[in-house]
Amino acid sequence: MRLLLIEDDVALGEGIHQALVREGYTVDWLKDGSSALHALLSETFDLAVLDLGLPRLDGLDVLRRLRSTGADLPVLILTARDATEDRIAGLDAGADDYLIKPFDLAELKARLRALLRRSAGRAQALIEHSGISLNPTAQQVSYRGEAVVLTPKEYQLLHELLSPPGRVRTRDHLMQLLYGWNEAAESNTLEVHIHHLRKKLSTDLIRTIRGVGYLIEERR
Ligand code: CA
Repeated sequence: MRLLLIEDDVALGEGIHQALVREGYTVDWLKDGSSALHALLSETFDLAVLDLGLPRLDGLDVLRRLRSTGADLPVLILTARDATEDRIAGLDAGADDYLIKPFDLAELKARLRALLRRSAGRAQALIEHSGISLNPTAQQVSYRGEAVVLTPKEYQLLHELLSPPGRVRTRDHLMQLLYGWNEAAESNTLEVHIHHLRKKLSTDLIRTIRGVGYLIEERR
C-alpha cells in the first residue's frame, strides 16, 4: 500500500511518517499543496492523508482539483480548523474522513485501515486468475485452493500485476509502488520479490518483459 502524506508541519509530518512506515506502508511525504496535486495526478497511490492549511495550494483546492479529474482514491483530511463548516467543506470537496489536530496516532492508523478496507471492497471483490484467488479486503491469497503466505511487498506486487492482468508494469512503476521515493532499495530487490512469487505460485505466472518490466497475461 502506497500512501501520500501531505503535511507542512515538519515535526508532525515526521511523527506520522514514522508511524505509518512502521505499519508497513510505503509512505511518500510532500509539504506543499502544489507538488502534492502534481504527484496525485501523475502517480499511483492507494490513499492520501491531506493537511488543509498548506503552502502554495490549499488542501481543499488540492482535493477539489483531484476529484474533478474523477480520481477516487480515499482521502483523509487533517485539520486544525475545528469549525464545523471547515469539516463540512472538506467532506463536500470529496474527503472520505477527517481528523482534527491534535489527534492520537493510533486513531489515525485505525481510520486508515478502515478507509483502505472500504476502498478495497468498493473497488473490487475477490480477484481470481489462473488458479490464484486474491482477497483484497483480507489481504489473503490462495493458489489452487491452498492458502499462500506472502510478505507485504510480495502481496503488493501480485495485487498490482493482477489489477488488471494483461498490462505490462514497468520496473519504475513497481519500484515506486513498493518503495516510494525515499526508501532505499537494492537494485535487484524487485527481481527477488518476483522470484519468490514465482516459487510460491507458479513459475510461468509472471512474464519478464526484458528491459521494461513484468506482466501477468490476461489469459493463460
Ligand atoms: Ca498546515
